[in-house]
Amino acid sequence: MRVSEAVTTWRVGSATITRVEEQLGITNLPCEKYFPNFEREVLQRHRDWVAPDHYSPQHDRFVTSVHSWLIRVDGLTILLDTCGGNHKDRPWTHRFHQLDTPYLARLRAGGAAPEDIDMVLCTHLHADHVGWNTMLRDGRWVPTFPNAKYLYSRTDDAYWDKRQNPAMADDPRHMAYEDSVLPVVQSGQAVLVDDGYDLTSKLSVEAAPGHSPGHVLFKLVDGGMRAVFCGDVIHHALQVYAPHWTHMADEWPADAVASRQRMLQSCAELGALLFPIHFGAPHVARIDHGARGFSVRFVPGTT
Ligand SMILES: [Zn+2]
Repeated sequence: MRVSEAVTTWRVGSATITRVEEQLGITNLPCEKYFPNFEREVLQRHRDWVAPDHYSPQHDRFVTSVHSWLIRVDGLTILLDTCGGNHKDRPWTHRFHQLDTPYLARLRAGGAAPEDIDMVLCTHLHADHVGWNTMLRDGRWVPTFPNAKYLYSRTDDAYWDKRQNPAMADDPRHMAYEDSVLPVVQSGQAVLVDDGYDLTSKLSVEAAPGHSPGHVLFKLVDGGMRAVFCGDVIHHALQVYAPHWTHMADEWPADAVASRQRMLQSCAELGALLFPIHFGAPHVARIDHGARGFSVRFVPGTT
């Protein structure tokens, strides 16, 4: 795992968006497992740009990032998706098991202390998007951001909570709900949101189901400029060229493909800057209409 100290920022209208890295490195699993319908010829066709930032030839594995987006707009300080977190038991995924990373130091390097965060946004409730929602204090999981409202999708909350969905009791992934979502519900800081919810006049929620049942996008429109914070609607830049590749953790793969197609189409039509959570460097991209579908144009930030 490589850890970067560099803080990189993008501007969209009056908003600034800063990347806060937790980890950057190769995936747990080979390409054929990461995307069950992976096609090696697509990788070969794009080999000139995928290595080394998006694919490691040495390991024959994809390179992916895990980071948050720190958004400042209209006087608000917003943290979107909170990575894996420290000291969490994740026996099903060693990349997130019992981590000890300097994530909060990097958040501070981005200019925000935990108490500065006004809102935490979660695109969905998988372990690598909710981890820093809480931290361990005196043996208990407590909200990391004491002054924040945490926005969760109502549909995802109902799906991952074993009290609401008894089938989840047999799925080890419900551990992420117990230690990283539920303590925030119990502290009274959680706000459950649905499709069409407006956070501010510039930021809104749109349903994008598939990777998880209640997965949402956050859309920013500011001064005529647009950004889409898409969570895991897309995992890897090669999926821009192969939107039909499903991810191993997609709950509803066919819906995930439909949500990805819809999002790519919207980004290409409206010129929105795409801020995924797992793209390798430089992490942010524009989507264009290409000869065979869509194409990706990376947009580096400034340091
Ligand atoms: Zn993820």
